[in-house]
Amino acid sequence: MSDDCIFCSIVDGEIPARTVHETDDVLAFLDANPLAPGHTLVIPKAHAARVGDLDADLASAVFDTVAAITPEIEAAVDADGANVGLNDGEAAGQEVPHVHIHAVPRFDGDGGAP
Ligand code: 5GP
Ligand code: ZN
Repeated sequence: MSDDCIFCSIVDGEIPARTVHETDDVLAFLDANPLAPGHTLVIPKAHAARVGDLDADLASAVFDTVAAITPEIEAAVDADGANVGLNDGEAAGQEVPHVHIHAVPRFDGDGGAP
């Protein structure tokens, strides 16, 4: 837990979010400002600001969740694919300093990568 971290507050239930999937170490929830229907964020429950701050087991657990739920999200919104990625650091567009992987459903003919 990090004070003043939005995503830690979501993990702690202090800020509501629509949970997509949860394990002991990982939480997946819908993005509040989705780029597409089903846009989901996958985070480690333990606070880590940057991808390099994750230990190998936690990085693996986060990616396991991404791999498990991305096909399910695509199916749920009838998508044809998904952009999966993360912004690491402010210079890269990371606005919330708690590691999160975006899974953004994509649809044939929707205009290309964001
Ligand atoms: P970043 O730019 O850091 O890679 O992405 C941050 C993402 O977090 C954005 O897509 C933004 O919509 C999402 N976000 C920011 N605050 C909240 C929040 O309080 N709840 C949820 N569910 N998503 C949020
Ligand atoms: Zn945090």
